Amino acid sequence: MIRIRRVSDNTTRVNREVLQQVQDILREQFPSLTSLDIEKIPDLLMNPMKHHFRFILYVLEGFRGTVKAFALISHEPHLKFCYLDYISTARQAADGGFGGALYETVREQAISLGATGLFFECLPDDPELCKDPAILRQNKARLRFYEQYGARPIINTAYETSVALGDDNPPYLVLDDLGLGKPLRAHKARSIVRAILEWKYAHLCSPEYIEKVLNSFRDDPVRLRARRYVKPMNPIMLPEDGKLRKISLIVNDKHFIHHIKERGYVESPVRIEAIRKELETTNLFEPVFPKEFSEKHIRKVHASDYIGYFKRVCKTLAPGKSVYPYVFPIRNAARPPRELAVRAGYYCIDTFTPLNENAFLAAKRAVDCALTGADKILEGRRLAYALVRPPGHHAERRSFGGFCYFNSAAIAAQYLSSYGSVAILDIDYHHGNGQQEIFYERKDVLTVSIHGHPKFAYPYFSGFEDEKGFGQGKGSNINHPLPECITSEQYLKTLEKAAQQIAVFGPAYLIVCLGLDTAKGDPTGTWGLLAKDFDQSGKTIGKLKLPTLVIQEGGYRTRVIGINARHFFTGLWTGQFRS
Ligand SMILES: [Zn+2]
Repeated sequence: MIRIRRVSDNTTRVNREVLQQVQDILREQFPSLTSLDIEKIPDLLMNPMKHHFRFILYVLEGFRGTVKAFALISHEPHLKFCYLDYISTARQAADGGFGGALYETVREQAISLGATGLFFECLPDDPELCKDPAILRQNKARLRFYEQYGARPIINTAYETSVALGDDNPPYLVLDDLGLGKPLRAHKARSIVRAILEWKYAHLCSPEYIEKVLNSFRDDPVRLRARRYVKPMNPIMLPEDGKLRKISLIVNDKHFIHHIKERGYVESPVRIEAIRKELETTNLFEPVFPKEFSEKHIRKVHASDYIGYFKRVCKTLAPGKSVYPYVFPIRNAARPPRELAVRAGYYCIDTFTPLNENAFLAAKRAVDCALTGADKILEGRRLAYALVRPPGHHAERRSFGGFCYFNSAAIAAQYLSSYGSVAILDIDYHHGNGQQEIFYERKDVLTVSIHGHPKFAYPYFSGFEDEKGFGQGKGSNINHPLPECITSEQYLKTLEKAAQQIAVFGPAYLIVCLGLDTAKGDPTGTWGLLAKDFDQSGKTIGKLKLPTLVIQEGGYRTRVIGINARHFFTGLWTGQFRS
């Protein structure tokens, strides 16, 4: 399996190994780099301000995390440009189009960041500037490759002047306008070139040299070299504008098999359809089919006796028949009841979450959807939404309840935590007891929940303010229990505070447990949030600018659930990309 993944930091073992491989490729492919240049790569990701740019690293991974190619870009938000620091394949990786796939990802990323151009250096294809015929051939091949995308050297400047007299092979400055067709004005080009030379190459370029290059930019707008290798833009090479800005939408295609028809059971299939119909009226989403993942991901979060029980008992149940737990043998953990149906209470926290023939299959598929969303985030997508039922946030390590069986959010968080720290923000009306219990002693996963106070709201036994985590996890669980009746202002103020707490934690990834049962008229809640409040909630969360995976939890007033979801996502998108 080959996949492109964005690496955010070096806080996990997996990422440290990847960074080492990236450094090995640099040593191998760029012999002129100093060991200092190579050693500082992790620091570029961890301390962007120190280096004036925000750095973004993409790796193309093969089996067992072998890095076959990588690209490092830097983004300067004020001048609105990106600079491609390195793009390279590992020597032993025969180029199977890896460079092209990575370069296209880099361009999409640059477009989604609002950059007006992607700059980089490329060695010259002019025999006057490059004396070695073998190197000249390589240089030509590279410039031909970039020319397919319309990227060409900027001409009529002194950029390619050797820093030291007589140096062979001085690089061109190449500009890819990302297909946007915006002319680059001379004054802006000067500011960008100053930023590149002063912040990236100060150790090589004297202030006099930099001034000389800046003064040489006379064309206004600047001009690119005429095409030399490729005819004008082949339409398939045009970037798909804003593709990375679409929200990946993964819908549980098996949710309807889990249908409990008893009167008053509010967790019904129509919930998903109501949301999906409303989202279709926007153009913000890109549907993604759920992949199937191994059960090992569930086992990392849930106890294997619980998983085994859940799977087995569902298989024994007759179609259409539900079993509600009614005996809770909590006092003798060593002797679970032998009768499978009676044993339900051994793993359940309440009397209203039934087991049925398809509960396992539907819950497993919800997990697949959440993990597919997590994969999209790892590939560099900023927003993904797993529209699933059954929900999951009440499921603890070895118990189900509150219509939940597997904690999809916790399983996705566990999966992402191999690549960077994670924050889970639960905005369902009911406390997210599942992920609180699962990560209570972990410091790499922050759990935050805003909910009705447990003194009057389900699950009644957790969600209190003084539950703050334990051991290593002390301080990484935050509960915001709120009164039975609140105003929108009170709610939004609390959400703002939770967002600040997440910003302080500084996670690489955010997971949102989206409950829409905070809405006015929800049969399971007491609050009165309106569509505009969901829009504002989305904005507040989007402004955190974190790669965000949203997972559907509760919300049972089907007449408004879709409208509220649409407002939440419009707000989330606006917060992420337009603020
Ligand atoms: Zn709920």
